[in-house]
Amino acid sequence: MVTSILQRPTLVLNRSWQPVGVTTVARSLIKVWNDAARIVDPADFQLYSWDDWAACEPAEGEGFIATQWLKIRAPEVVTLTHYDRQPRNIVAFSRRNVFKRDNYTCQYCGCRPGSEELTIDHVVPRSHGGISSWTNCVLACVACNHRKADRTPDRAGMPLRREPTRPVWNPSYARHGVRLESWSKFVSDAYWHVDLEEN
Ligand SMILES: [Zn+2]
Repeated sequence: MVTSILQRPTLVLNRSWQPVGVTTVARSLIKVWNDAARIVDPADFQLYSWDDWAACEPAEGEGFIATQWLKIRAPEVVTLTHYDRQPRNIVAFSRRNVFKRDNYTCQYCGCRPGSEELTIDHVVPRSHGGISSWTNCVLACVACNHRKADRTPDRAGMPLRREPTRPVWNPSYARHGVRLESWSKFVSDAYWHVDLEEN
């Protein structure tokens, strides 16, 4: 039980309160203990140091870590106290992350046939010198991919629904894609609605 609470996810914010990562309760508590982070109460945005937090009684039914002397509540959000301690995460270009950025949606017709029926399309085809990058790769359904063939969107008369760009990091790009309800206050709405389907 204690182990599972310690392994629960905690959202990490930088000093400007932008989400920069997801860590575990155990690691976040170490950061707070070392004064490298403060705990944020998502209910009222109040900040807690280790001593303040340790003095808080866990609410009825709330998960906590029982030590010999005290019960420590499991933090859901922490904010770093040192500005450059952890830079903003860069979202790596990968097949899996293109699926997340495009939210499992064909960027030509807007259908969502499921990950099995989606492919990565090179906007400018590789045969025309197009490279594999955030700005040149989008999801396309099998039908659109077939129709577009070896042409640019202009040539094929198939405009993109939106310009592909490198995404800004948000918790849906975290390894295990878990997210807590309380995080919605710190993460932009658009990304909050990204599905966490894995393929
Ligand atoms: Zn399509």
